[in-house]
Amino acid sequence: MDLIRLKNIYKQYKNGVTAIYDATISIRKGAFVFVIGGSGSGKSTLIKMLYREEKPTSGQIVVGGVNVAKLRNSKVYKLRRKVGIVFQDYRLLPKLTVYENVAFAMEVIGAPKKMARHQTLKALELVGLKNKVHNYPNQLSGGEQQRVAIARAIVNNPKLLLCDEPTGNLDPERSKEIMEVLELINEKRGTTIIMATHDKEIVNRMRKQVVTLKDGRIISNEEEGTYNEVV
Ligand code: ADP
Repeated sequence: MDLIRLKNIYKQYKNGVTAIYDATISIRKGAFVFVIGGSGSGKSTLIKMLYREEKPTSGQIVVGGVNVAKLRNSKVYKLRRKVGIVFQDYRLLPKLTVYENVAFAMEVIGAPKKMARHQTLKALELVGLKNKVHNYPNQLSGGEQQRVAIARAIVNNPKLLLCDEPTGNLDPERSKEIMEVLELINEKRGTTIIMATHDKEIVNRMRKQVVTLKDGRIISNEEEGTYNEVV
């Protein structure tokens, strides 16, 4: 079953730059997908359209049965509850502890305290940080901070986890740990994962679905793919 369908998507920004040309693609539930391509090839734009940070200029985007392109602004919060997001630069709140950073994501959606606590600890355990709950972000390594960001993104059990260059600031060893956590989430929770990356080693090691963008166009989409050298 498909979780995501894009049909003839174009995205032109207000300054006239067309970032995505005629993208058509389906992603099945439970898939682990790498989106690769050079800088400026449209990876971030594609990801932003999946959580309605950007709207396509034309075409259709369906995520979990919701037509994201046509979704009213007042309903975007419903989509965001089904989608977790991880960025290259972690984006943790510096004055909150590890526990509070993750639990906060449950509080804003109005989850009962007990449930928020249970899910927060479960998410932190999954990313291997249960022993750091009382630490503040500046007391953690970059890899640990990113694992907190991942726990925050999955605390509400979203169907979809979007990661935009999550290992971009990390060395190969820390990157490997992040990928192990993401693979665990994909396998254990069945979360569909879409990850934009430049990291050739990771892509070639993991043998997942690989979607390649070049100058805003999808030039290949392979199961168990490798890094496409054309980019
Ligand atoms: P990538 O993530 O692969 O580096 P992006 O999706 O960020 O690529 O960018 C694709 C193209 O769209 C680039 O030419 C970029 O300059 C342009 N672009 C991205 N965001 C904006 C924006 N907010 N306004 C105008 N142009 C943008």
